[in-house]
Amino acid sequence: MTTHTTRMLILGSGPAGLSAAIYGARAGLAPIVVQGIQPGGQLMTTTDVENYPGFKDVIQGPWLMEQMQAQAEHVGTRMMWDTIVEIDLSRRPFRLIGDSGDVYEGDALVIATGAQAKWLGLDSEEALKGKGVSACATCDGFFFRGKKIAVIGGGNTAVEEALYLTNHSDDVTLIHRRDSFRAEKILQDRLFAHKNVKVLWNKEVETFVDGGGTAGLVALELVDTVTGEKSRLDVEGGFVAIGHHPATELFRGHIELDSDHYIKVETGSTRTSVPGVFACGDVMDKIYRQAVTAAGTGCMAALDVERFLAEADFEVAEAAE
Ligand code: FAD
Ligand code: NAP
Repeated sequence: MTTHTTRMLILGSGPAGLSAAIYGARAGLAPIVVQGIQPGGQLMTTTDVENYPGFKDVIQGPWLMEQMQAQAEHVGTRMMWDTIVEIDLSRRPFRLIGDSGDVYEGDALVIATGAQAKWLGLDSEEALKGKGVSACATCDGFFFRGKKIAVIGGGNTAVEEALYLTNHSDDVTLIHRRDSFRAEKILQDRLFAHKNVKVLWNKEVETFVDGGGTAGLVALELVDTVTGEKSRLDVEGGFVAIGHHPATELFRGHIELDSDHYIKVETGSTRTSVPGVFACGDVMDKIYRQAVTAAGTGCMAALDVERFLAEADFEVAEAAE
């Protein structure tokens, strides 16, 4: 067992964690990033990224994350192949334990553990991910220009994604398993007023149909949740929008979470309910969930850490006088 100590400990190696690391390293805080089970984060699971600023041509998600990691290491970040399994935030330095048995001590902690989309759990869904089935309209909607698209879900995300997709398609169907949405009324009003969106109530997807060869998704097989009647809807894009799981199980009971289990931060900052602990990226953001917003809040977290440590050091120096 080894104990690693740092001024700035970062959990997560997605755009939020690595951006925090770049800023923290350049501020001389010699950060440690514990990478977790998905080094590079969610963008490692995708191909084309067309909306990260700075690149005129299409770039690949894994390439972008390799570049971010190389930049973070180049300026002095230490990367650890480990996943945090236990935390003690009751005193500083904070003490965290990795899967490897190693101990990580940080004067400040940045949580950037991200969130994962919920899926329906169908084999056909898994087989067609990236071939017509997606969980991010902002990321992938552009690839379905002029095509028939379906969105599955009934919350704010589903309604917003359906409305967003009308920028790319004039044939969007929103499929919901009940006969009323849980989305806010204002969003519902906007949806019902839109001529290019149809709603299918009381329907669940049974199968995402593969057209074979390079065709990808060609249709959805549906079942009526009231009558049991089966039907088929021809679509080339299927967006699953049934919510996200923020990776916060580890922090329950240690820092304040909201009713959807996202980490609560003070408005306009990355400060959590525990002084010295900061959160950035998808783990504290249930609205935007983009690489660029994750990177932006990662930068904010590093600046907040710098300020926090400077104040803490000043208090220690004053007490010693
Ligand atoms: P994540 O990228 O989720 O990273 C979380 C990190 O935390 C991971 O490294 C994980 O290993 C680590 N971690 C978790 N638990 C622990 C633990 N206990 N200990 C240590 N580490 C831990 N956004 C765009 O802007 N453009 C796109 O084109 C785009 N395409 C996408 C395509 C797909 C298929 C997906 C799934 C997402 C896409 N997104 C896109 C969204 C984007 O990937 C996310 O918004 C972004 O990755 C969030 O960054 P993050 O750093 O907050 O978290
Ligand atoms: P959500 O509110 O939990 O809604 C999930 C939807 O998916 C529900 O309608 C649910 O159906 C449906 N669903 C869940 N599991 C399903 C399954 N297995 N099969 C079929 N349908 C399924 O999730 P969300 O829409 O992602 O929103 C999460 C939180 O973020 C909410 O608090 C929301 O207000 C917030 N948010 C806010 C904004 C905004 O303010 N603009 C935007 C996005 C999200 P049932 O209704 O039948 O349960």
